[in-house]
Amino acid sequence: MTEKPKRPKYCPICGQENGCGRGERQGSCWCTREYFPKGIFEWVPPDQLRKSCICIDCLKRYVRENPADTNTHSLP
Ligand SMILES: [Zn+2]
Ligand SMILES: [Zn+2]
Repeated sequence: MTEKPKRPKYCPICGQENGCGRGERQGSCWCTREYFPKGIFEWVPPDQLRKSCICIDCLKRYVRENPADTNTHSLP
């Protein structure tokens, strides 16, 4: 693979690649099927909000640290 993505997408919380819609059309990203608790967006710097997706590692970490905030949805 020598092709470079024009706009690499990184998690605004941890800075790792968020894997959002990787190699797929828009709308097929895993994050569109997951529930993001409101509180997790407090981890995101305001200027990064809605610009890039949070990665699944951060979502899982949030769920682990804030189980009461996520009782409407459970992750594997
Ligand atoms: Zn992350
Ligand atoms: Zn995404």
